[in-house]
Amino acid sequence: MPDTPERSLATRCVHAGEAADAHGSPHTPVYATSTFAFPSTAAILDVVEGRAAGSLYTRYGLNPSIQALEAKLAAIEGAEAALAFASGMAAEAALFLAHGRSGIVCIGDAYGGTLELLADQLPLLGIRTRLLLGSELEQLDGLLADGFGLVFLETPTNPALEVFDIAAIATRAHAHGALLAVDNTFASPVNQQPLALGADLVVHSATKYLGGHSDLTAGALMGPAELIAVVANWRKNLGSVLAPETAALLARSLRTLPVRVQAQNASALAIARAMATHPRVARVLHPGLPSCPGHALAARQMTGFGGMLTLEITAGDAEPAAAAAAVVDRLRLFTLAPSLGGVESLVTQPCTTTHHGLSPAERQRRGISDAMIRLSIGLEDPAELIADLEQALAGAAGCLAVEKATGPR
Ligand code: PLP
Repeated sequence: MPDTPERSLATRCVHAGEAADAHGSPHTPVYATSTFAFPSTAAILDVVEGRAAGSLYTRYGLNPSIQALEAKLAAIEGAEAALAFASGMAAEAALFLAHGRSGIVCIGDAYGGTLELLADQLPLLGIRTRLLLGSELEQLDGLLADGFGLVFLETPTNPALEVFDIAAIATRAHAHGALLAVDNTFASPVNQQPLALGADLVVHSATKYLGGHSDLTAGALMGPAELIAVVANWRKNLGSVLAPETAALLARSLRTLPVRVQAQNASALAIARAMATHPRVARVLHPGLPSCPGHALAARQMTGFGGMLTLEITAGDAEPAAAAAAVVDRLRLFTLAPSLGGVESLVTQPCTTTHHGLSPAERQRRGISDAMIRLSIGLEDPAELIADLEQALAGAAGCLAVEKATGPR
């Protein structure tokens, strides 16, 4: 079998889950089909009652395009099973409803939608949630002792690229019988394998590196078959399965995942190093830089440092958000858009997009400065990306100096 766990990640990305069709297609075709025919009542009952594997109804995920994708998703995270969802948020919502009803502790920064779901929406259903910053980790054991049954974290985090110790937190969760779920979106399975480090479940916004081309929206959840089966039942009735057309598109993207991410790792590190000595940049946050607080831990638990980095612009006397916007608005090769993981480099200013919903005081508490710009490095020539950043930093410095002399227009 070409997709066994002994195969390398690159081989699994190409071959896992693929089922040749009757016409000899080398990969699973798109089954744009909502339901599937059976030769007899006995045959349909075999699938409905779980005695036989097979396709049945697309909303259940029982469609060959979705099943092929899920086999590939499981293989690339080293999991027994996987589920494909209509978005990353759909995957998280089903995970929280299935396994978080006794209480969810979220550690560190997380995507804004995740924070809103946890802080504002799940409590409306009576689900207890607590959001702990990295500096508040000592509260974790008390919450676990109080019966919180699911720990959730992103690592590295958005946008400060804080790194959390997956193995250590898994040990603390397991000591109380709780589960650890890791959002592996920023790292991707190429750079970090949370299940091998002790996590129980892995969730992805597949919209990002797994899709990799900013042309699809999808989510994924991977883990042991027993835990995944519980979530599958929620997905079935929430109706949040991924469409077969998008499943096939995502499977297509996964075949090139390692090639893309390795190139993005190398470019991001080169850009981080170039920006670290730039006089208009106060701080570069990237786990690959020894100056980054999470560097030693990242070097231990990750096999690559990822394609994301955050710059804190030197604002001088200027207002920090305006100083960062002056740089962002001068970039030509980076696209100003709030996403990540695509082949095209993207830039976003967290205080205007991902963390706009937080009050300035809460952003400050979380260490998210208004002078930050977050970069998602794509597949362009890194020297041209560095040149683009240098011209934008120089142009912004000139413009802010003029504004200081004449006052803002
Ligand atoms: N997790 C992370 C780390 C994200 O960045 C995002 C979206 O930006 C999500 C989850 C939610 O994913 P989606 O937009 O696919 O629903």
